[in-house]
Amino acid sequence: MDTEASILPSTTPRSRALATEAVHAGRDDLAALGLHAPPIDLSTTYPSYDSRGEAERIDAFATTGARLDGPPVYARLDNPTTARFETALARLEETASAVSFASGMAALTAVLLARASMGLRHVVAVRPLYGCSDHLLGAGLLGTEVTWTDPAGIAGAIRPDTGLVMVETPANPTLAEVDIRALAHSCGSVPLLVDNTFATPVLQRPVEHGARLVLHSATKYLGGHGDVMGGVVACDEEFAARLRQVRFATGGVLHPMAGYLLLRGLSTLPVRVRAASTSAAELCRRLTADPRIARVHYPKVGGAMVSFEVYGDPHRVISAVRLITPAVSLGSVDTLIQHPASISHRIVDEGDRQAAGVGDRLLRMSVGLEDVEDLWADLCQALSDPPARTVAGTVPEWLPTGR
Ligand SMILES: *Cc1c(COP(=O)(O)O)cnc(C)c1O
Repeated sequence: MDTEASILPSTTPRSRALATEAVHAGRDDLAALGLHAPPIDLSTTYPSYDSRGEAERIDAFATTGARLDGPPVYARLDNPTTARFETALARLEETASAVSFASGMAALTAVLLARASMGLRHVVAVRPLYGCSDHLLGAGLLGTEVTWTDPAGIAGAIRPDTGLVMVETPANPTLAEVDIRALAHSCGSVPLLVDNTFATPVLQRPVEHGARLVLHSATKYLGGHGDVMGGVVACDEEFAARLRQVRFATGGVLHPMAGYLLLRGLSTLPVRVRAASTSAAELCRRLTADPRIARVHYPKVGGAMVSFEVYGDPHRVISAVRLITPAVSLGSVDTLIQHPASISHRIVDEGDRQAAGVGDRLLRMSVGLEDVEDLWADLCQALSDPPARTVAGTVPEWLPTGR
């Protein structure tokens, strides 16, 4: 599979601007179908009176992993509605293909299995990663062996059985960034996977800089409304073919309803990301100037995520927010805040967590589309000491109300 030509990252430049692709890609045939909104195909199976023909199509898929011409035979092979989302996401990431999955973790699993099936079980990775990605690589659940290193150590960590180099930039939850181009150079012929969940293709297209695989937890910004779970890998067609075969064999498919919602989410992605990023940058400025805050993390690439370390008790901030929702996950229209050491990165060993910069005073905030003054007012009251008027023996108004 790794011929010399195929290891060269190939971008597929868009002919139309990103904002235009966001509302049109994956929908190009709708007018000819006499439709405006994309149709949802919920079929699990597809009738065919030609079983010899089906046998040939199944053989072709088993050999090549290429998308079937015509109906999918069975929904674990493909689905026209999820295919629309894949087409659109590939256009936004400027890749030839994209393969969707039931969640971000199912997508990463498929990438690891695709490499392991070729005897390439070793992964080189840079911390921090999203807690469950760290866990999946490190716990050996898929027989993967991982070498953790910093960007400068990548070339030295690569072995003959290295199948993947993995980074997140900006990383969850510290928003640490790596230079994708320099890193891709260190990888040589080993595919570089960049988890682009935080930046989204609106702010960064890793394949332009030499990454071969782009991973998204579509659950976050691509869906954008906190009501759909999905994952997707954008890549060249050769890798996509392998991922489709793994998906067919292991079953981590994206549901068509989720595919519909994700396609719909993409149409507003550029507008949502830009608006939320403007508020995030403003909150970052205010937090940086605030004496209650020890340190603010905000990436150069921008975006709607802000992380900060408080001098006081981070758990109290979580219990005191009222407009902002205290919840894990990110990328929704409403603002969410969480304590990574307790939740998103709890599953990572404490020492590894601390060494990766995920300290106990760190809070991670996903800025939504509310008015920035309302968000600041809520943050300010949550960061404040308990109101002085609280009388001993009464319940302070900042305690959780048992919602
Ligand atoms: C949430 C997340 C994932 C996992 O995605 P799921 O859709 O929850 O499976 C992977 N990477 C990053 C950066 C994430 O934030």
